[in-house]
Amino acid sequence: MFDSVLIIDDSVAIRERIIKSLESFELFARYYEADDGLEGFKKLLASPVDIILCDLEMPRIDGFKFLNMLKSRPDLQDVPVIILTGMNDRELKVKGLEQGASDYITKPFDPEELVARVKVHLKIKHLQDDLKRTNELLLELSNTDHLTGMYNRRYLMEALDKEVQRSSRKGGNLSLILMDIDHFKQVNDTCGHLQGDVVLQKVALHLQKELRSYDIAARYGGEEFVAVLPDTSLEEAAFVAERVRASIRGIRFTGALSSLSITVSLGVATFTSPGCRSVDEFIKLADDALYRAKANGRDRVECSR
Ligand code: GH3
Ligand code: MG
Ligand code: MG
Ligand code: MG
Repeated sequence: MFDSVLIIDDSVAIRERIIKSLESFELFARYYEADDGLEGFKKLLASPVDIILCDLEMPRIDGFKFLNMLKSRPDLQDVPVIILTGMNDRELKVKGLEQGASDYITKPFDPEELVARVKVHLKIKHLQDDLKRTNELLLELSNTDHLTGMYNRRYLMEALDKEVQRSSRKGGNLSLILMDIDHFKQVNDTCGHLQGDVVLQKVALHLQKELRSYDIAARYGGEEFVAVLPDTSLEEAAFVAERVRASIRGIRFTGALSSLSITVSLGVATFTSPGCRSVDEFIKLADDALYRAKANGRDRVECSR
């Protein structure tokens, strides 16, 4: 019993009767009360609730206005509202339901019917909340590389697309670093695949440590990583890449890996380079630079020309 309810009615007596009915079934941990729509809306913003019972006819801000105010808040769309109407208010009931209410209860109400309806809508609310959490988790999983916890290639491509559009629209620099671990196959061959995984995790941490919060770092493939740096010139990105290179070169491994030291090669490109018109061309530029870093002896940074 962790749920909370908001009861909006201009009659203190009705609010008390509702609370008494709900309390006898121990449905809620917290009860909030308001005597018109505006006060109800303020209370709702201060402490979100799981369900709302709302009178329709009230002085000042009535139930319809309250329902309209709720519509302005996407974060509150899933909170069910049960409207309280008079026995013969057929048109008001219909209008209330059309304006977004989930259900209605006629006054004077039967306590058991009130509780039964509240339970139904609470149950739906809980199912929706679960579904939302599951969807959020699925989205997060589908964007995450499981070994390093970084973003994966799928997310990176989406994010890079958006960043390229943004920088084309607003101008400003956008830079890209492609990074590949040198001779990583040898690490697997000599230390084993599991230890190789440990190395990948460490490298991921050191890369992320050198970036700003609005840079996007991802694992691009096996032992290849990418960093997207918004509002960063080629020179600045090369500077960051150099810092990353030095940081990873300086990693001291422990245990079975204590005699290991590794290096990375990095290619840097900027979207404003001549001949760079698409995400694919952008990646190709950074990849060409990375290829040159490998060809020129590894453990180094090369920039697109
Ligand atoms: P280079 O300096 O030219 O990049 O040499 P390299 O050995 O790093 O390059 P190569 O592409 O030949 O080998 C990459 C290796 O990365 C081979 C592959 O087994 C390993 N690898 C890819 N993904 C993973 C992974 O998830 N875990 C581990 N442990 N190894 C991986
Ligand atoms: Mg009233
Ligand atoms: Mg590689
Ligand atoms: Mg490699």
